[in-house]
Amino acid sequence: MFDSELSKQIRDAMRDLCKCFPNEYWREVDESQGYPEKFVQALTEAGWLSALIPEEYGGSGLGITEASIILEEINRSGGNSGACHAQMYIMGTLLRHGSEEQKKKYLPKIASGELRLQSFGVTEPNTGTDTTKLKTTAVRKGDHYVVNGQKVWISRVQHSDLMLLLARTTPLDQVKKKSDGLSVFLVDLRDVSESEMTVRPIRNMMNHETNELFFDNLKVPAENLIGEEGRGFRYILDGMNAERILIAAECVGDGYWFVDKASSYANERVIFDRPIGQNQGIQFPIARAYINVEAANLMRFQAAALFDAGKPCGKEANIAKLLAADASWEAGNVAIQTHGGFGFAAEFDIERKFRETKLYQVAPISTNLILSYVGEHVLGMPRSY
Ligand SMILES: Cc1cc2nc3c(=O)[nH]c(=O)nc-3n(C[C@H](O)[C@H](O)[C@H](O)COP(=O)(O)OP(=O)(O)OC[C@H]3O[C@@H](n4cnc5c(N)ncnc54)[C@H](O)[C@@H]3O)c2cc1C
Repeated sequence: MFDSELSKQIRDAMRDLCKCFPNEYWREVDESQGYPEKFVQALTEAGWLSALIPEEYGGSGLGITEASIILEEINRSGGNSGACHAQMYIMGTLLRHGSEEQKKKYLPKIASGELRLQSFGVTEPNTGTDTTKLKTTAVRKGDHYVVNGQKVWISRVQHSDLMLLLARTTPLDQVKKKSDGLSVFLVDLRDVSESEMTVRPIRNMMNHETNELFFDNLKVPAENLIGEEGRGFRYILDGMNAERILIAAECVGDGYWFVDKASSYANERVIFDRPIGQNQGIQFPIARAYINVEAANLMRFQAAALFDAGKPCGKEANIAKLLAADASWEAGNVAIQTHGGFGFAAEFDIERKFRETKLYQVAPISTNLILSYVGEHVLGMPRSY
């Protein structure tokens, strides 16, 4: 299932590309709090970021399985897909719900790299995970919508041309279901003035460009509404399985990277006249971390295969995301422990990857919300919120 000829070719090509961006590159980008512009450019030029765009719009029309291998390999090489992964996981909203006109207008330019669709505006400071309560409004005025409100943690806005934005178009007290009345817009950031949208960067624990956004009468052309007004929440939910699978693959990549680092160091480092890996106290946690990553990887491929076959995969996608995020976090812990003091030194890259992989316990979906999904939708227990 996951060692097809195509998968092998993608892995080999990605490994060749990633070799040009070694740990030193990512360390330098991290230290300077910069954006891996050269890497994203190389990835785009090689066509990898347009993997999910159908061939008729200039992409390569690959499936989630192949897309997930691309992101896995970035993280497995020591890099961080977080700089560009959203282009893959938010693409589905435009592909599945965008009009033919919108697809013709944007997809070929995204595929060629002329435009970047890297930004996704959902989370708000006062409503967080409780998405349907979000306060940002979009009010129709003639041929455009006027957006007012605030978002938080909106990543890559400064390195994207387009942003998918979720806003309320019908007030909460006027809808039957709280998930009704939300709409998705494709905001062309190149047309947005500073007075319409203020971008305030948030300094955070890793090098991740993320921002607070303040909308003050931001005008969005009505033609940029995706699908039907009021159905946006469903469109976003639709894309969640893809997002879960892709993030799981990144975590699997991180997990293997940590295990490789830990096992190599355990073989090399000689203390008390023997390699530290000879001690079961060092060897067993690494073996366990590897076992966890392998198990998570199987569930990730199972979820991806179901997704690509057009079958329901909510259970598998959620489980894959939780297992993989836990496995990479555990492997990160083990890698630090194995390296002793050197695990904390920036030049070993472990502390950087450790910070980066921690994010996936919380975003784009927190572990608790996955447990809630499984408890409610898979095991039939009462909704807990
Ligand atoms: C670096 C970074 C980048 C991000 N990028 C983006 C982005 O590009 N676009 C975007 O829209 N968002 C983005 N996010 C936001 C991210 O999706 C949210 O942080 C996440 O969904 C959690 O929301 P919150 O932070 O408001 O936590 P809260 O909703 O306040 O929750 C806090 C904690 O309580 C737990 N919790 C809440 N309710 C329940 C419940 N009912 N049962 C059990 N536990 C519960 C949560 O699991 C969490 O651990 C990003 C976040 C970070 C940190």
